[in-house]
Amino acid sequence: MSYLEELKQALAADRVTTNSAVLDQHSRDESYHTPARPDAVVFPLSSEEVSRVMKIAGKHEIPIVPFGLGTSLEGHVIPYAGGITMDFSLMDKVLEIKPEDFLVRVEPGVTRSKLNQELKKHGLFFSVDPGADATLGGMAATNASGTTSVRYGVMRDQVRDLEVVLANGEIIHTGNLAVKSSSGYNLNGLFVGSEGTLGAFTELTLQVYGIPEMTIAGRADFSSIDEAVSAVVAIQSAGIQVARIELVDAASIAQVNAYSHTDYPEVPTLFLEFHGNEAGLMQDVDFARDILSDNGCSNFKFEKDSLARAQLWDARHNLAYAAMRANPGKKMMVTDVCLPISQLAGGIHAAQEALRAEGLEGGILGHVGDGNYHALLMIDVENPEEMAKAEAFNRAIVEYALSKGGSCTGEHGVGIGKAKYQQLEHGNAYSVMQALKKTLDPQNLLNPGKLFYETGNSAAMQ
Ligand SMILES: Cc1cc2nc3c(=O)[nH]c(=O)nc-3n(C[C@H](O)[C@H](O)[C@H](O)COP(=O)(O)OP(=O)(O)OC[C@H]3O[C@@H](n4cnc5c(N)ncnc54)[C@H](O)[C@@H]3O)c2cc1C
Repeated sequence: MSYLEELKQALAADRVTTNSAVLDQHSRDESYHTPARPDAVVFPLSSEEVSRVMKIAGKHEIPIVPFGLGTSLEGHVIPYAGGITMDFSLMDKVLEIKPEDFLVRVEPGVTRSKLNQELKKHGLFFSVDPGADATLGGMAATNASGTTSVRYGVMRDQVRDLEVVLANGEIIHTGNLAVKSSSGYNLNGLFVGSEGTLGAFTELTLQVYGIPEMTIAGRADFSSIDEAVSAVVAIQSAGIQVARIELVDAASIAQVNAYSHTDYPEVPTLFLEFHGNEAGLMQDVDFARDILSDNGCSNFKFEKDSLARAQLWDARHNLAYAAMRANPGKKMMVTDVCLPISQLAGGIHAAQEALRAEGLEGGILGHVGDGNYHALLMIDVENPEEMAKAEAFNRAIVEYALSKGGSCTGEHGVGIGKAKYQQLEHGNAYSVMQALKKTLDPQNLLNPGKLFYETGNSAAMQ
């Protein structure tokens, strides 16, 4: 029997497809990386079905790529080796909310906005908020973060337990429900960020938080990026608990205005948010205002009203879509490096210099409270010269970040785009990662060619 026939027996026939429109939908992510189709897409409903798919793939030596919503930015879900794409969109139930433990148990296809709708009924929220409305399975697999990680941490900090189906079909749990544990290796830490290369997540138990009594958001305008970055460092050093602190450069603010019909001054801007109770919050905000003005802030505008706050953060979150709208026909390259906070200003300077050196235009923005910034370039992938310049720019900022003790990716992950920097970043530890991969996926069937640089990866994959 062919592997497709076996899959149709193991799942329902209508949840195994080779329909070309569906294959196309699963051939790309949201980035500039070259698309490639899978041979089939399956839509499992349970961990048992995922286990059956793994066993069939192992028997026939067919690659498998787990797929959440395909919003990742480094080619993570593009099946360059063909095979099966395993789409988790039908596993989208919030299984259990435990308000007294501040925990929630979900299937991997639940999106962050759907989870927050459910949690709101209990006065709770889930903190991690990447710019796209991604799935929790995909977010765990990329160790995603977002605007609030400066206060609440990244995806890895929220995961208490994962149910994982391994390449051999075995189903394991990587953690437990306890707040802390010194028991054994930290498998949550290993599987979060594994990008579908070690197993498929079929259930996640995640930490959630009480909705703060009060939230204040604000926008602070500066005449230079340097001033804005020094204000971030000063706020962090003063120990003020910001919940969000985001940098958006002047060029990106212009795109936000055009897309979101706002009229923000087109200057380097910090978007901030504070969470807490009224008394503490007013103190924090006053202190922050003093620090901001000491660092050159010309105008600081607060929003307490929930609609005004939502508009502010929608404008920030829609930035990438604003750039796409302004550049029809081009593809998005969002670089993503992370530096120690003391090196952030130097990193942003180096990025601006590298843009100038390559003659490229790009917006600079980021979760600067974490030392994480992005340069957003819209590029013509059909133009080899432009592609080469964009790649040279990417390499320059990665090498700068690594030379300062940073990372080649703060949150978007490795996929294929950053695979070539793994050896450089991790040194001898890279071979430990390769050994782990070999132990858990000896046939190299789980998302092959991702995370690890494989000789033979084609130029299209870089
Ligand atoms: C406009 C825009 C803004 C963004 N902003 C941010 C941001 O602020 N911060 C950030 O971190 N990212 C950001 N991203 C990137 C993206 O949203 C994240 O990488 C997100 O975590 C991907 O989730 P997804 O559900 O789309 O996963 P996919 O793209 O479908 O998959 C991502 C990876 O996870 C694996 N995977 C998916 N589901 C599973 C599963 N159940 N088990 C095991 N592996 C699985 C896949 O194989 C793949 O390697 C942004 C993207 C866009 C388009």
